Amino acid sequence: MSLALQTFSSVKDANAALQAAGARYLGGGTLVIRAANEGDVSISSLIRVNDPGLLQIAVSGAKVRLGASVTMAAIARHPELAALAPAARAVGGPAIRNMATVGGNLFAPAPYGDFAVALLALDATVDTEDGELAVETFLAGRDTSRAIVTAATFSLPKAESFRFLKVSRVKPKGVSVLSIAALLELAPDGTVTSARIALGCMADRPMRALAAEKALLGCKLTPQEIAPALAAASEGIAPITDPIASAWYRAEVLPVHLGRLLSN
Ligand SMILES: Cc1cc2nc3c(=O)[nH]c(=O)nc-3n(C[C@H](O)[C@H](O)[C@H](O)COP(=O)(O)OP(=O)(O)OC[C@H]3O[C@@H](n4cnc5c(N)ncnc54)[C@H](O)[C@@H]3O)c2cc1C
Repeated sequence: MSLALQTFSSVKDANAALQAAGARYLGGGTLVIRAANEGDVSISSLIRVNDPGLLQIAVSGAKVRLGASVTMAAIARHPELAALAPAARAVGGPAIRNMATVGGNLFAPAPYGDFAVALLALDATVDTEDGELAVETFLAGRDTSRAIVTAATFSLPKAESFRFLKVSRVKPKGVSVLSIAALLELAPDGTVTSARIALGCMADRPMRALAAEKALLGCKLTPQEIAPALAAASEGIAPITDPIASAWYRAEVLPVHLGRLLSN
């Protein structure tokens, strides 16, 4: 089956073309081209945009804007985005990172979506031509979204307040057993004053660990004080099962790895 590829210079025109039956947006293509190659007949044409704005990384003070076509490799090597480099480097091997985009990662089903986990912990905003959405709202509605994502924006975390961990079985580029991102603010005495924790593989898309976040408030990051948060981490999870790990295994190891992330 042949696949038509249409390139547009404006997001507006591409959005219009994307409304046609069988049309899919082409980011880096690591998932959508694979799906087409594997015989996904629901894809009949691919739409791409060559607007250079989609490739831009803008860091202005503490504000970061990542164009949707920015790749994981570009983030990993950006001197001002060192705090995000572990999350960008968690995506596949070098060849995948050279192609994999921010926009595509927001749509990637678990066990993929490691960078989207980081964006969820960072409380990012997802931009489309229709406006801005909180990443959490965007992720909840992404299955029915037909609009091209143009950017993700967020406040640059201080290196010491942002933590990211990916657990995989095949090092260094295996897919996730789970991934965790945490944005923590600590008082001078080490007490947690705010916590935002996002989990990958604990549902079909990144999710917040709301009960664990709540349980962490007012705690110091000692094994004794974080124990209630670790116990609460499983609240609301529905981990995926795949050839890498069962839902049961993922649920069992979540508190162990969250404990390691918080204690480090
Ligand atoms: C071998 C291999 C290993 C991988 N390992 C990992 C991994 O470790 N971690 C991980 O997170 N992912 C992994 N992936 C999945 C994938 O590479 C990444 O999630 C990547 O970020 C997807 O981005 P993409 O630009 O390639 O998406 P594409 O394949 O281009 O698109 C994926 C989907 O998102 C839609 N889309 C893409 N961009 C936009 C946009 N701007 N607006 C609207 N819709 C859009 C497409 O229409 C399509 O439906 C792996 C993939 C492969 C093949």
